[in-house]
Amino acid sequence: MEEDLLRNRLMQVRRETAEAAAQAGYPAPKIIAVTKTHPAEMILPLLDMDQADIGENRVQEIVEKLPALEGKFRIHLIGRLQSNKVKYIIEHVCLIHSVDRLSLAEEIDRQAQKHDLVIPVLMQISPAGEPQKGGVAPEEAETLLRQMAKLPGIKVRGLMAVMPKTEDEAWLSGLFAQTRTLFERLRDEGIPGVEMEELSMGMSGDYQIAAGHGATMVRIGSALFGPRDYGLKV
Ligand SMILES: *Cc1c(COP(=O)(O)O)cnc(C)c1O
Repeated sequence: MEEDLLRNRLMQVRRETAEAAAQAGYPAPKIIAVTKTHPAEMILPLLDMDQADIGENRVQEIVEKLPALEGKFRIHLIGRLQSNKVKYIIEHVCLIHSVDRLSLAEEIDRQAQKHDLVIPVLMQISPAGEPQKGGVAPEEAETLLRQMAKLPGIKVRGLMAVMPKTEDEAWLSGLFAQTRTLFERLRDEGIPGVEMEELSMGMSGDYQIAAGHGATMVRIGSALFGPRDYGLKV
């Protein structure tokens, strides 16, 4: 892939998210470039574009790419995470976006304490109730958040959501709005140990809508790198 193309697409996403956010009175969200399935040589040019935040969703893939990426990028873990794999990535990721159950939070806490770390995490919400995508139901969010807040090895920094794939923009807008409202409500609870500052929502198909509803981070893959080929394993 040509670097100029990647650069142009990244500039476009930055411009469009900043504009949509500004129109709604929000600051521009941070872009997380989702680099899953792409080899290191496709990722490294991002450094020249001032794009050090990248998102990966598979533990195995992160471990394989670490020698090329570590120390250069801030790696966000955005995908479903099995508790037994936490130990492989605990020292290498800057933020885990996808914590949606107490058992996973407890394992992150355990591994973090072992390494003398406090790991920043987001609690993943399921706005449309799609269990296969992970995430806690909005009505259970506060209970889980209060449990997570007590674990010394993790620091809850906000919420994350994966929206359904749909053509129904009104429904989608409503889900983003509800997620923002939930974020603000939980933030205003002022739960000790919780810093509700980040709202990670919006992907290639819906980042403008997300930015217009106060996303602070958008996770963008195919709008930057084109379609993914899952057959080609890195
Ligand atoms: C793959 C992935 C993305 C990026 O998806 P695109 O539609 O390619 O932008 C964002 N978030 C999560 C959790 C993902 O797994």
